[in-house]
Amino acid sequence: MKQPLIGKTLAQLEEVATGVGLRKFAASQMARRLYKLGAKDLSEFTELPKAAREDLARTYCVGRTAPVRESRSKDGTVKYLFPAHTPEVDYISGGLKGIDFEAVYIPDRDRATLCVSSQAGCRMGCEFCMTGRQGFHGSLTPAAIINQVLSIPESASLTNIVFMGMGEPLDNVDAVLQAIEVLTAPWGLAWSPKRITVSSIGKMDTLRRLLDETKVHIAISVHSPFSPQRKELMPVERAFPIEKVFALLRNYDFAHQRRLSAEYILWDGVNDTPAHADALARLIRGTSCRVNLIRFHAIPGFPHSTAEGPGMERFRDRLNDLGVTATIRTSRGEDIEAACGMLAGESSAQ
Ligand code: SF4
Repeated sequence: MKQPLIGKTLAQLEEVATGVGLRKFAASQMARRLYKLGAKDLSEFTELPKAAREDLARTYCVGRTAPVRESRSKDGTVKYLFPAHTPEVDYISGGLKGIDFEAVYIPDRDRATLCVSSQAGCRMGCEFCMTGRQGFHGSLTPAAIINQVLSIPESASLTNIVFMGMGEPLDNVDAVLQAIEVLTAPWGLAWSPKRITVSSIGKMDTLRRLLDETKVHIAISVHSPFSPQRKELMPVERAFPIEKVFALLRNYDFAHQRRLSAEYILWDGVNDTPAHADALARLIRGTSCRVNLIRFHAIPGFPHSTAEGPGMERFRDRLNDLGVTATIRTSRGEDIEAACGMLAGESSAQ
């Protein structure tokens, strides 16, 4: 196995460079090849002496791996399956076996969004989620996260990245923060943090780091404003009650243009009552949070079904009447099981 260079920060590339006898400056040249010029092989690092390239190749590789499978929706959404391992690279940290993981490309008029995974499976156990049903099979390395962005065919046309794929990003916070540094740094992919959203179920112990160390938009999955009901749907409520999550967010100084949103799946007759709308409005009061209402995509063994159009509109209108900006999110990729909560990777063939 080799160490992938994609996903490494400039400081880490400096260590790599000095480790093979190069000057620190070579790290900037390597970053340019990796992140600006899209190198796929060390032989493309032509600024470096041949002997240094050969030295590098003993331990390192670029680390780019194309998806092993794609599924195309009739609405243009594409689901890509990435391998947990290749003969050269482990994309799962901690020596775990992992499972292959998915990223979803969602074109929409002048936007092209990539929904990336941060873990293979998930240990958060949300009742309504296919990924949660799979259990936890490992966290993705920074290289695995960056590879999803660089190695889909539509990479050059992407306008937005959302960490809403498999896994809880804040359960893999070091790798996610490192990937965001690579995505946003001028020496890296130079993305504006305003085009990146990290979605979390409210893992408060690491939420503060995401707030302090990045400027990305934040989305919190709420799904019920009532603690007893939320505990049944999302075990995380026991450790980190949603009231406390929003108390933290209320007191946090959100810089201009940094967006906070609440994700809310609407189940018919479960969490779509006027009392839920009123409590949700109270929960987010004092923040600039807007609400995204999401249609539910049925999964086996979960007893509730989605609220349909009129129910969603009633809920949205009540929130709007209470002064909350609420919108209904268009559902994408349901026919290829790429919609919210439907992602499920596979046991790696390798
Ligand atoms: S909803 Fe998110 S945090 Fe919950 S089990 Fe699914 S992937 Fe994990």
